[in-house]
Formats: sequence, structure tokens, C-alpha cells
Amino acid sequence: MIKNKLLLCFLYTFTLLINAEYSAIPGELIAIKLKKSTENIISNELVVEDDLNKVIIIPIPYNNTNLSLDLYDIQINIQKKDFGESRITIDNLSQVDLNNEDAARAYKESRLIKDAVKTYSNNFKPLLDFISPVEGIISSRYGKKRFINNSPRSPHLALDIAAPEGSPIIAPAYGKVILTGNFFYGGNYIILDHGYGLLSSYSHLSEILVNKGDIVKQSDLIGKVGSTGRVTGPHLHWTVYLNEIRINPESLLKDNYLSTLLESI
Ligand SMILES: [Zn+2]
Repeated sequence: MIKNKLLLCFLYTFTLLINAEYSAIPGELIAIKLKKSTENIISNELVVEDDLNKVIIIPIPYNNTNLSLDLYDIQINIQKKDFGESRITIDNLSQVDLNNEDAARAYKESRLIKDAVKTYSNNFKPLLDFISPVEGIISSRYGKKRFINNSPRSPHLALDIAAPEGSPIIAPAYGKVILTGNFFYGGNYIILDHGYGLLSSYSHLSEILVNKGDIVKQSDLIGKVGSTGRVTGPHLHWTVYLNEIRINPESLLKDNYLSTLLESI
């Protein structure tokens, strides 16, 4: 009997451990230690391994209400976060209320970007410790509720860094150039593939200094800050995606981000 009780107690503790709930902030990444039984069903996920553990890195989507995600039998409670708001004025009204031609162009480009960020390459593993792509002043943070000429728009799921026209933009980490072009909203635009579903994009450049297919190392020059596309002044609009989810680029700039993430589990 005592033996059974002990066994029950052990089972209960074990269940608690493997079904632990996680709490996360929208736009951040979280690290989850894998249960043995889920190891085989991981397909296109970013997995970090060391001698002892296999850990999966999951992007937490933007949201401004309490929400929970169920992934691999793990419940992730996403905390409600108020990111504040940002109000901008665009004087050129043709960039706000698009004519049919521009609307069709913008739609076509948005499909192109959506498809590009689905790219999943596994011939190189990403580095989660990024360096800043440009030296400048943060002018709009991730998650801000956007108002253009006082009407509400989609939230700002990127980081804006203001810098003088022509300032160098460098690759924040090793990657491959998978898309370049001139887009209605983004102006001169680049997407880098960092591997395993991690990608980053660069908008409003005055110059693009790389070509599709190029491999760039961390700190290689990729372009210059500009004010092409829909902008209010020269800045870099920098977006980071993991598994097609836009995450907070600032997190990846924290010192030893990956080790901190792994220590948190
Ligand atoms: Zn922006």
C-alpha cells in the first residue's frame, strides 16, 4: 500500500513536470524542453540541443488580450500586454487611400512577402544573438497600435530605427538573401533567411547592396537607410519572423539572448 502511494506520488509529480504551463509575452520567444514522446513529431521547428536537453524555440504571436496556445500538449498562457500607440500623419493621401492600381500592386507584393517568409531552409542553423542592423534611434517599437491620419490600422509588428539617409545597414546575423525589390509600402526591400524559419526584412532603403542568392555574414553591409515607400522620414523598418510569426526584433538584440532563454526553463 505504502509502495502504491509512493508510486502515485511519483506519477503525480512527473505529470506536473511534463504538463507544466508556460507563461509568455506576445512577440517574445519561449524555450520549451521536449517530452520524449513529442520528439518525433517535431518537423519544421527550431530545436536547440546540448548534451542533456532538446529544447524547442517557439514564437509567441502578437495579441493584446489574454490568450492561450496549445502546442505539443503544452499550454502556453500569453499575457495581455499594452504596447502603447503610435500616431503618424501621411500627407500624401494617395499612399493612404490607394487607387485600384496601387491596391493591386500592394496586394501582389504582400503575397510575395507572405510566400517568401514561409521559406524554411535547414542547411544552416540560426544564431539567436543578433546585432543591430543599423546605428540610430528607436523611433517606433514593436506592438504599437497604429493610427494613420487618426484612423486605426494594423499594429506595428516591427522595430523602426531612425538614422540619417545613407547610413549603413548590416546583416544582424548570418543568412541568405531570398528577396529584393521595390515595393509600394516597403520601398527598397530585402528579406534575409537565417535558417529554420527565422527570417528578417529591411524596408525603405535608399540603396540595396546585395542580390538574391547572396550569402551574408553577420555585420556584412546589405544596404543603406532611406525613405523609399510609405514613410514619414528616413528610417529602417526592421521585421523579424519565426515560423511566419512576426516577433519583437529588440529581444534578439539582448546580450546572450539564447543562453538567457535556455536558462529560463
Ligand atoms: Zn515601421
